[in-house]
Amino acid sequence: MNSEERDVITGLYGKDGFYREARMLIDTTENEYDIIAMDIERFKIINDNYGTEEGDRLLKYIADRMVTYTDSMNSAAMRMSADCFFIIVEHHEGFEEQFISYMRNEVNNYDLSMKVTVKFGIYKVEDKTISVAKMCNRALLAVEMIKGKYDVSFNYYDDSIRKKMELEQTITNDMESALANREFEVYFQPKYDLLTDKVAGAEALVRWKHPIRGMISPGIFIPIFERNGFVTKLDMFVWEETCKYISQWKQKGRVSIPVSVNVSRCDIYNTNLPQVLLELVGRYNINPDELHLEITETAYTEDSEQLIEVVSQLKMSGFIIEMDDFGSGYSSLNMISELPIDILKLDMRFVQSDNANNNKNIMNFVVGLAKWMNLLVVAEGVETQEQINSLKSIECNYVQGFFYSKPLPGNEFTQQLKDIEISPMINDSDKTRTKDEVVLRKGAGEKVILVVDGMQWNCDTIYEYFKSTYSVAYTGNAQNAINYIEDNYDKVVLVISELILKGMGGMEMLIKLKAEREFAKIPVIITAQLGQGGEEMALALGASDFILKPYSKGVMMRRVQNVLLQSSMKYGRDKENADNIANTNPSTGLIESSDASARIFGFMKSRKDAEATYVLISVQNLDKVKDICGHSKVCEVIEQFAAILKKSFRKDEIIYQSAPGEFAIFLPRKFADSEFDARLDELQKMLKCTVDNVDVYCAIGVSEYPAGGMNYQMLYQNAKIALMEAKASNAGKYKVFKYK
Ligand code: C2E
Ligand code: CA
Ligand code: CA
Repeated sequence: MNSEERDVITGLYGKDGFYREARMLIDTTENEYDIIAMDIERFKIINDNYGTEEGDRLLKYIADRMVTYTDSMNSAAMRMSADCFFIIVEHHEGFEEQFISYMRNEVNNYDLSMKVTVKFGIYKVEDKTISVAKMCNRALLAVEMIKGKYDVSFNYYDDSIRKKMELEQTITNDMESALANREFEVYFQPKYDLLTDKVAGAEALVRWKHPIRGMISPGIFIPIFERNGFVTKLDMFVWEETCKYISQWKQKGRVSIPVSVNVSRCDIYNTNLPQVLLELVGRYNINPDELHLEITETAYTEDSEQLIEVVSQLKMSGFIIEMDDFGSGYSSLNMISELPIDILKLDMRFVQSDNANNNKNIMNFVVGLAKWMNLLVVAEGVETQEQINSLKSIECNYVQGFFYSKPLPGNEFTQQLKDIEISPMINDSDKTRTKDEVVLRKGAGEKVILVVDGMQWNCDTIYEYFKSTYSVAYTGNAQNAINYIEDNYDKVVLVISELILKGMGGMEMLIKLKAEREFAKIPVIITAQLGQGGEEMALALGASDFILKPYSKGVMMRRVQNVLLQSSMKYGRDKENADNIANTNPSTGLIESSDASARIFGFMKSRKDAEATYVLISVQNLDKVKDICGHSKVCEVIEQFAAILKKSFRKDEIIYQSAPGEFAIFLPRKFADSEFDARLDELQKMLKCTVDNVDVYCAIGVSEYPAGGMNYQMLYQNAKIALMEAKASNAGKYKVFKYK
């Protein structure tokens, strides 16, 4: 039977089967029917977090419940795509609601540590002449309208949906030309300081002046642009317009006020975002901290790892991060602690709700929490004096809303700025700056990395990266850093200093340190923003490395490790710890390949006459395992093999996963000829298993240092060549080729 007829995982109908059955029900009986689409929310996350096997179990569970409910009736059910089900049922008054509440209950009872929710779209079959496929499509449209809305669980297809689809189409047709014709315009809504009643900042909000439809609200077109991707272009336009205004206000001699722009979740997927924004503010000659970035809370639930990485880099680049719409939906207090946020924007719902008392309690709690975490709070949607009073009583910092001002066109807002007093949010004396005195944060080791950086957050970040091996001392003042080194010369193993600091800069400090014979041994890494220059000079003056901000954790760890290795080779400083700051892969427990290559590189540099063996192991038939048993089984095999490898090698041997399904081992010595075969034979015996009748085994390629390659790259490539020969050889899958 083909899969269009029956779905293999759930046993429900596939498309063909369902369309045929539904057609028959509709045509041969007098009854009226409903077609209900059911969608599992965030199914991808379930699959990613718990594995496809668990995802399949959920699908099967849901299918079984559907069948149980509808078994006795005139009905049929199918699974159409990954997480989307359809069912056709006889229409009875109130029946759909019964079915929905039944299914919701059943899904609620499903045992999984994450809450599973399902949404329903209902199409009442009124026009029996249209195809079942079209009917299904309408039910699907109905469910798609409510995806992500946390308080709605079902929706009927009706004319309004059709109209919405039409509007969506027109908007999509017009958007490109609208941007080219400058139909989009940026408005500014001021934010007020509740203490001083002065303007403290503004938010840039886009408006579309459509030549035919008139003013279209961003509430309508932004969600559409987020779906079709155009929002990234529009946002770029809004950011640039905003920068133009900020620079114009500055040029005309007014104090600068920070303006926030909205950053859509689509923008976050661009890993170049920090560079794009830095280039932009650079071009208009404004500081990153004059541009605040509003990131909405729903973005936090999707790809949180990527989000944390990108937002951290934005923060490191000097932008101020505001968390938008806090409390609007999938609130995640966890995220506030993981993300480097400066400002929390309370969702309007809090301020505007009728249930004032209850909300005041929640707001009180949130503002308290924010204070505790050193965040500022902005309340949005403030419309009445009463609301102001209540916000003042809980010591909220800033407000934005119609009570003070609607969003204004750029020229009007510019005009206003002339006449009013302002007190910018976050100024220089702010607490996000590092203090002058040296603060020591104890980590697992006695040895100290000294960080000289004006931004507190950068110091915290470096502490987080290295605390498992080092203690971290930090200060914003280079002179104090030098004093600290004088007192703690034997403890400080590395200095990481920002290029530009208040008072003495990083370069001057570098010169001073390198001029002292003893201090010259302490390696110094200079960090700088793109465009500040200084790399060549820093390296010429003796800096061990020059790292551009924003850096990622991986880059920072690797480069610090290289610097420490170099310094240990040269002066014997802190050899032991340098080896310990490798990242390990959480599932295999092996060190990450970037760290492994850094170590191998270090070995080659430090021990020029040494010999070594590089073994590349490729696990065969994983594709078959994946097809039959799924991805999670593949992971299981890899983890099992990793565990075996870890057990059978010595501490000085570097084992890592060099590619999916491929392990590499670097042994800092050469095998004797007799030992060689024995070891590899043994390896191949250990690394094999049978999964559902599929034989999993390993092919091995070896290259020897230095004959098989003088550097890491060559060594890897030659081992790979040997590996291919091993795979291709007919002499048997266990045959090992030695590259000569
Ligand atoms: P948001 O970021 O939460 O923006 C605040 C919205 O609240 C704005 O609606 C603003 O006009 C409105 N507002 C301000 N004060 C009050 C008040 O006192 N009462 C009420 N009822 N509303 C108030 P707007 O301008 O219609 O924007 C709607 C949403 O569209 C924004 O919500 C934001 O999510 C999105 N948006 C607007 N401009 C942009 C943009 O340039 N890029 C992106 N990606 N999204 C944007
Ligand atoms: Ca916003
Ligand atoms: Ca908001």
